[in-house]
Amino acid sequence: MRKQFAVIGLGRFGSSVCKELYKLGHDVLAIDNNEEKVNNMTQFSTHSVIANGTDENALHSLGIRNFDFVIVAIGDNIQSSILCTLILKEMGVKNVWVKAQNYYHHRVLEKIGADRIVHPEQDMGIRIAQHLVSEKIIDYIELSDEYSIVELIASEKVAGKSLAQLDIRAKYGCTILAIKRNKDINISPFPQDLIDKNDILIVIGHKNDLKRFEEEGL
Ligand code: ATP
Repeated sequence: MRKQFAVIGLGRFGSSVCKELYKLGHDVLAIDNNEEKVNNMTQFSTHSVIANGTDENALHSLGIRNFDFVIVAIGDNIQSSILCTLILKEMGVKNVWVKAQNYYHHRVLEKIGADRIVHPEQDMGIRIAQHLVSEKIIDYIELSDEYSIVELIASEKVAGKSLAQLDIRAKYGCTILAIKRNKDINISPFPQDLIDKNDILIVIGHKNDLKRFEEEGL
């Protein structure tokens, strides 16, 4: 379903979010107070506007309240990021996602009602480190301190075996959510489905169980 997004702050993070949402077919309003940043985004957004994210009247006249999601990607200027978030929440924007610079910024954003706070540099760092330490890990998403989702490459060891034979849930306490094979993705694998070498298994579980499965099961 087509959704309405507004991205405030078109640095590297904000512009990537904006381009990807637009590519996925959504309506995206790109906002920055820097004219050049706005001009660079005209072909990658539905509308691009020069405006200050801390100017309540400007946000009001852009109809920001009606957007499904507003992403605040103002980076270095923490004060502006906080003020912008506060204004958006006071205006009644339902979903405000904000990029945080540090722990204190995060805490303030939490207090003023940001719906989701992201730390792209840290998150990406963790994912890349996970990928670096194991050749089997393709991607890694942290769900909480204890649980995550990983993409693992199936080795020779599991090739030709069915999910039922491998009995991963009983042995390792992890669940295979999906199996990717080339461009195909099987999002509700059956117990009798066979795994091929180099299939990508998308697995959810406790971090300790996932580690055990990756080291011993694959
Ligand atoms: P990135 O790492 O994503 O490049 P950054 O952390 O370096 O970002 P900045 O470059 O400080 O972040 O800010 C991101 C963008 O936000 C810039 O394009 C900047 O012009 C814009 N910006 C800063 N303050 C405001 C504001 N008050 N209103 C709108 N845009 C703003």
